[in-house]
Amino acid sequence: HKGPAMGKPHPLLHTPLPVAELRVQFPILAQAIHGHPLAYLDNAASTPMPLPVLQALETFETQQRANIHRGVHTLSQRATDAFDAARATLKDYLGATAEHELVFTSGTTEALNLVAQGLWAGGPGHAWLRPSDRIIVSGLEHHANLLPWQHAARMSGAQLDILLPDAEGRLHEADLAALLDVGGARVFAVTACANATGERPPYEALLRLARQAGALTVLDAAQVAAHGTPVLAQLPDCDFLALSGHKMHGPLGIGVLAGRREALERLHPLRLGGDMVEQASYHGARYAALPARLEGGTPNIAGAVGLAAAARFIDQAGRAAIGAHLQALRAQAVAGLQAIPDVRVLSPHATDAALIAFTVPGVHPHDVGQLLDEAGVAVRTGHHCAQPLLEHLGCGPTTRASFALFNTADEVERLIAGVARARELLQ
Ligand code: PLP
Repeated sequence: HKGPAMGKPHPLLHTPLPVAELRVQFPILAQAIHGHPLAYLDNAASTPMPLPVLQALETFETQQRANIHRGVHTLSQRATDAFDAARATLKDYLGATAEHELVFTSGTTEALNLVAQGLWAGGPGHAWLRPSDRIIVSGLEHHANLLPWQHAARMSGAQLDILLPDAEGRLHEADLAALLDVGGARVFAVTACANATGERPPYEALLRLARQAGALTVLDAAQVAAHGTPVLAQLPDCDFLALSGHKMHGPLGIGVLAGRREALERLHPLRLGGDMVEQASYHGARYAALPARLEGGTPNIAGAVGLAAAARFIDQAGRAAIGAHLQALRAQAVAGLQAIPDVRVLSPHATDAALIAFTVPGVHPHDVGQLLDEAGVAVRTGHHCAQPLLEHLGCGPTTRASFALFNTADEVERLIAGVARARELLQ
């Protein structure tokens, strides 16, 4: 194995991020796994929460918890204020303007289902999607941005087209232009970063092309939420943006659907019931205005409060500094893993990704993952909920390591050494 020497900082790792200071704010990291310090490299699946988020949750649960909008009593008012403040913080985080609105969901999956279902569930004469329309979805997507569109196509009678990546996993504007030229495209959905490869498609240009052709546009921002979230004010061609709180150091079970108010107004609500209605009779109801209209039922109020604290934590560390740190870790991992004979790194060109997926021919990823776990290194293995993409790229299951602001060059070296060892032992 010809990777960089153990323990030596990678030359690219000169970022202003105070990693050691940030790291101590994550209590879950201060533990040993199988006798080794935990190297948590599964951040693309879920990121741990730092103290400011844990403290915000504790304050809410011990001093503010009550249902919102329903009581005149003090706690209900505090909870309502906290929930409203959380929405304002997240709108700021996403660079929303007066044209945008933000809806809390349980995560990216619910946000994308809300969009896909909301576009056909309005019924004849109301739904955005009609028979003979076309839905175009990128071929890089997590199942959460594919299956809802398959279902929407079935329910509406629309046709589903896939914008396939090339053999290296790249999407091309010209391919989308060709699909749009056929006419009838009403929706285009794409990721800001593919969770299975780290590929960063030229989504700004793709969204622009699709919107110019009359489609509503959907961006899955789950994999960039913790460092490279697009700023809505600078992304005028994005109608809907989805993300998950737990992938940006926030709580589980909370997420966001943000977007242009005009586009959100086209969605038929997914959850009908309390809190989303202005006036109801036994035989009909007038739904409330946004955002309540799309937030039926008691929301995850604590989750929203915790997510706002996570957004503040990220912005205090600085998104640009975090992004630079993650890029350096990925560059180090690409160089080190590619130096191991036979190892195939997917999308090695995706320099701004915070994750790296790879295969070791002759060694099952599950075994790689298990050996790494024994060395205290947490990674994910399998299809990463993107089976069609991995099949298209002809590679099957992979091992994926993914980084967050608290990870170090030393942990990346442990990953590289562990993979080299797995190859030696198992190939
Ligand atoms: N989209 C992408 C790109 C993802 O990586 C994930 C999670 O891995 C999701 C969607 C689904 O997110 P969640 O399970 O939080 O709803």
